Amino acid sequence: MMNDDIQKISVSEDEIKHIVERLGTQISKDYQGRNPLFIGLLKGCIPFMSDLLKYVDIDCTLEYMKVSSYDGTKSTGVVTVKGGLPIVKDREVILIDDILDTGRTLDAVRKMLVEAGAKSVTICVLLDKPEGRKVDITPAYVGGLVPNEFVVGYGLDYNEHYRNLPYIGVLKEKVYSK
Ligand code: 5GP
Ligand code: MG
Ligand code: MG
Repeated sequence: MMNDDIQKISVSEDEIKHIVERLGTQISKDYQGRNPLFIGLLKGCIPFMSDLLKYVDIDCTLEYMKVSSYDGTKSTGVVTVKGGLPIVKDREVILIDDILDTGRTLDAVRKMLVEAGAKSVTICVLLDKPEGRKVDITPAYVGGLVPNEFVVGYGLDYNEHYRNLPYIGVLKEKVYSK
């Protein structure tokens, strides 16, 4: 079943399942015996991180961070952390987010974690929009590439809605003019 507000599906539920299995298996191989710390960026990371971890077959710990690059309704490019940083001293961190666009959010968070003493910070995103990039940042793990269009579902929101869709898709025009 497809939500009535969706005009097309960009990544299907089945494709997502294969992506998370591939990434989780790869991370397990790469980090064998190393006890990484997964840090998810709320709220977009929730379905992705939860599914990914089912395939992470190594000892690890989890944390979450809430970050915002918005001051009111304007994007400032200044990233603020709500509720403080997790303890990352000497840890090998794997940062999890839904999508990498300009790269400003993950770049800022990565720098904060390195400054806080993380041994390494590796980035894992479900989706990458390479055309949107404004800073030089390369994720180690990428589920898939999407063109420069706004997608929702599987953690990705439009005004906080649609995060619960089990697939990723593009909204119909009528949704924006409501
Ligand atoms: P950036 O890489 O530009 O700093 O920001 C990435 C964040 O912007 C993502 O975590 C996500 O919250 C939001 N974002 C970027 N592209 C999209 C998109 O196509 N759809 C949705 N729903 N959010 C997006
Ligand atoms: Mg986000
Ligand atoms: Mg959002």
